[in-house]
Amino acid sequence: MAKASEMNTITGKDVDFSRIRNQFPVLFSSVRGLPLAYLDNAATTQKPWAVINRMSEFDSAEYATVRRGAYRLAEQATQGFEDVRGKVALFLKANSPEEIVFTSGATMGVNLVAASWGRKFIGEGDEIILSHLEHHANILPWQMLAQEKGAVIKVIPVNDIGELDMEEFDRLLSNRTKLVAVTHVSNSIGTINPVQAICAKARAAGVVTLVDGAQAAPHMNIDVRKIGCDFYVLSAHKMYGPSGLGVLYGRKETLERTPPFLTGGDMIERVTFEKSTFVKPPHRFEAGTPAVTQVIGLGAAIDFLNSVGMERIERQEKKLLDYATELVSRIETVSIIGNARHKAAIISFTLADAHPHDVATILDSEGIAVRAGHHCAQPTMDRFCVAATTRASFSFYNTFEEVERLVEGIKQATDLFRG
Ligand code: PMP
Repeated sequence: MAKASEMNTITGKDVDFSRIRNQFPVLFSSVRGLPLAYLDNAATTQKPWAVINRMSEFDSAEYATVRRGAYRLAEQATQGFEDVRGKVALFLKANSPEEIVFTSGATMGVNLVAASWGRKFIGEGDEIILSHLEHHANILPWQMLAQEKGAVIKVIPVNDIGELDMEEFDRLLSNRTKLVAVTHVSNSIGTINPVQAICAKARAAGVVTLVDGAQAAPHMNIDVRKIGCDFYVLSAHKMYGPSGLGVLYGRKETLERTPPFLTGGDMIERVTFEKSTFVKPPHRFEAGTPAVTQVIGLGAAIDFLNSVGMERIERQEKKLLDYATELVSRIETVSIIGNARHKAAIISFTLADAHPHDVATILDSEGIAVRAGHHCAQPTMDRFCVAATTRASFSFYNTFEEVERLVEGIKQATDLFRG
């Protein structure tokens, strides 16, 4: 296997990722005198100068409310805001910008669909299929809805390597099923789910689908038409953009049948005390003043991702994952949780005799930032009979040296706990 130093700089027809890394200022900070190795990218990603500067420029010279003001500054801000909607539509390969709703994050996207579409179309005895790999954000809104309506939740099981049991999915899908809601990529163990196959089967059975793309959109080419889902949710802060902003993609016909979620300013045709009517999607779902600057920041993040190229990002992260998997799995005390054949660059592991939080603390003392806990996926943890794991999650801006530092840190933790 090539050395880390040889693997970082890939020139020729590929990209020099060390130059791309230079565009992320936080990555050059130090922790207790050691260089930061930021390996918590599944929780949130860092921002490049292009995003930081664009938001700061917008706030210093172009900021105004959108869709309300009749003056020049507001018109330009509105134009910039709506241009980003178009950019997101292209990024996701949606049919039109009207299929793109700005939310406050993936969590709100799922809650919106559950509270509006779900409340209208799901009734007593209806079934909602989830998978055993869901983040709580794609469990709890459905559980609340099911409790309110008397609906039933069914769960696609997961095998020992962390892949969905598709035969069982076929058995679960029935004429009682009203919705299938699955994650594209598991945040806790990294499995990339066969969402295209799941949506095709659901669609053939006349069932609506929601895909939680929070962990997929920053790491691979997304084509919502090819996936064939009705809804797709994501968070801007996991794709090098700002926090407090997300996107809900909704297939036009499905969004049009969906009643409003939050109500208030900027989503109405006519309001009287007796009765009100609402505008069409996407604005029907954007009550109140939106996160204007953040939307502009998301536009800059998408430009940045496109300039690097999603295929290149995917290839580089796969190399980091393969290198990390090879080195980490050689450590005898480590058990990697989740070894699916298709995996995003996430390694979740436990260390014999050590609590995941203690492992994370030892890694932190070496300047390595990882996450420890249940990753808001307690049912997944239960499936693998662990209460928590330590999770290292990579981005294209991570280096192969950082992978080696992680491995050294885990070895140190092993020695300490053995001692
Ligand atoms: N789904 C998945 C798979 C996630 O990883 C996360 C964030 N950890 C969410 C949903 C929720 O995203 P947010 O907190 O940005 O709303």
